[in-house]
Amino acid sequence: MSHTHSEVNTLSAKVEKLTSQTPQECYQCGKCSAGCPIRNYMEDSPNQIVRYVQLGFDEKALHSKTPWLCAGCLTCSTRCPQNFDLAKFMDAMRQIAINEKIKIPESDTVEFHKAFLNQIKKHGKAFEFGLVREYKLRTMNLMQDVDVAPEMFIKGKIALMPHEVKDKKSIKVIFDKID
Ligand code: SF4
Ligand code: SF4
Repeated sequence: MSHTHSEVNTLSAKVEKLTSQTPQECYQCGKCSAGCPIRNYMEDSPNQIVRYVQLGFDEKALHSKTPWLCAGCLTCSTRCPQNFDLAKFMDAMRQIAINEKIKIPESDTVEFHKAFLNQIKKHGKAFEFGLVREYKLRTMNLMQDVDVAPEMFIKGKIALMPHEVKDKKSIKVIFDKID
């Protein structure tokens, strides 16, 4: 196997192709993980996943739960002194894991991911009540988190009616391209 051939097959090269940024840009300062709201639920911190990719521990990175727990909130991306878009990196990690048929460590999060994309397809953006309903139907975890739901309604975190985006045609075009 030639050197160039093995390089394009590395996870690092795949991530770079999908995100137009190289994982080597990250200098491991840890600011991203310090601000990540999901960090406490993760075994590997977000910057640890970047570290695995930098070092060529591709299997470790691909089998970690961290990318599947990432909420895509962008906190990390806005905090990074290197302007490394870690949320985009996590997106690429999920995409590659799906493409390579990796056994996803948290299968429920895959269902959440699918339900999320379906809501975007239908309404142009995430409609939380629909998302929770669809997720529950997909996983049949009907009673999980039921106790926190009323509080989320009160706090206005879950909208009962979907807010539609005006330009739903463009959303359809996007999904037609990727479906
Ligand atoms: S904040 Fe940026 S440079 Fe620092 S560890 Fe996170 S991704 Fe790497
Ligand atoms: S985008 Fe993901 S990794 Fe980054 S701060 Fe939010 S939850 Fe954490």
